Amino acid sequence: MMINSKRVLYISMLLFSLLLNSSCKHQGIEGLSFLDGKPVRVEVKDGMISRVKNISKLTGKGNHMYIAPGLIDNQVNGFAGISFSLAGGELTVEGVKQVTRSLWEYGVTSYLPTLTTNDREILLANLYVLSKAKNEQDLLGSIPGFHLEGPYISPVDGYRGAHPKMFVREPDWVEFMELYEASGRNILTVTVAPEIPGGLGFIRQCSEMGIIVALGHHNASAETIDEAVQNGARICTHLGNGCANMINRHKNPLWPQLARDELMISIICDGIHLLPEEIKVFHKVKGTDKTIITSDVTSYATLPPGEYFTPEGDTIVLTPDQMIYYPAQNVLYGSASPITRGVGHIMEVTGCSLADAFRMASTNPAKLYGLTDRGTMEKGKRADLILFTVENSEIKIHKTYVRGELVFQELE
Ligand SMILES: [Zn+2]
Repeated sequence: MMINSKRVLYISMLLFSLLLNSSCKHQGIEGLSFLDGKPVRVEVKDGMISRVKNISKLTGKGNHMYIAPGLIDNQVNGFAGISFSLAGGELTVEGVKQVTRSLWEYGVTSYLPTLTTNDREILLANLYVLSKAKNEQDLLGSIPGFHLEGPYISPVDGYRGAHPKMFVREPDWVEFMELYEASGRNILTVTVAPEIPGGLGFIRQCSEMGIIVALGHHNASAETIDEAVQNGARICTHLGNGCANMINRHKNPLWPQLARDELMISIICDGIHLLPEEIKVFHKVKGTDKTIITSDVTSYATLPPGEYFTPEGDTIVLTPDQMIYYPAQNVLYGSASPITRGVGHIMEVTGCSLADAFRMASTNPAKLYGLTDRGTMEKGKRADLILFTVENSEIKIHKTYVRGELVFQELE
């Protein structure tokens, strides 16, 4: 009698677990944790992480690979031949999908498509296309929102960077609201120069709406930066770039941005935009918690070196070592390196751990933009996961999962 009831119990448990497995999608992904290099099995259920379990050793192939949360890039101007600033209706939903799929190959599972200073009609049209693309099922939520960098920035050469002067303008709340509506209210962050007329008021209005204000392409004084912080500015866009080559050694925008503890920074760690000593100092001053690695990557990434024409018809040069140079203004024209380069480079330059590099390239941006469902590898987060190796400070992506779906696998 005892045996029979035990058997009944066992059979019903088996049936129950079979039923459970057939109705929900379960899987386990193994790798060496990016946190401490120890083997873990990340269990995934319905696209979310259900458990991270320590295991004694990895099973199967690829037992030398790290596992980490996918990278989150807050500044992507385009990729692999497609620019988000394409004019004449050339930006399409399919184009945005192509960019997203290409970024998955580099371990980027979330990113903010970034529109730079441009004609009002182009901004409106392209924000609308992006808003349509954002909700496409097959992008699996990889685009949480957008970054508007400009057009309300400094018109001054050097600080303006490669942004076309003819489209730089003072903040116009009515225009900004039109852009915001065209984006489906998905502009998560805006980069603005606080010192231009209307700049500080604009910062306050954006902050009150919950839009993250970034200071960038500006030549603001310490006093103006103080006011910008009081009005809600949270971060400095690509600190050390979007700045004139010749500056006053005392009064320049770098010191006050470094000195204000309230301000986070984003930095382009592609080995070209900043010198190693700049990265080291910026990281020492702000610390890992207030530093975000960004790529500022453009459509020229993955293209062969050579001369190209921008959508505005200007000539730019892509060198063999991945520098994009804009001769007309003697400035850089964004980057050609995906954010994986930044993760490897900051480890090389600062000696920080892999765990810290991922905090700066995944956890911190998720926190800043309120993306509570991603940015760490723990129970309850999206199963946006990457498997990779690190060789000579280069991150090499082998597999990318977005919401538990394998979206990229390196060919063996
Ligand atoms: Zn910029």
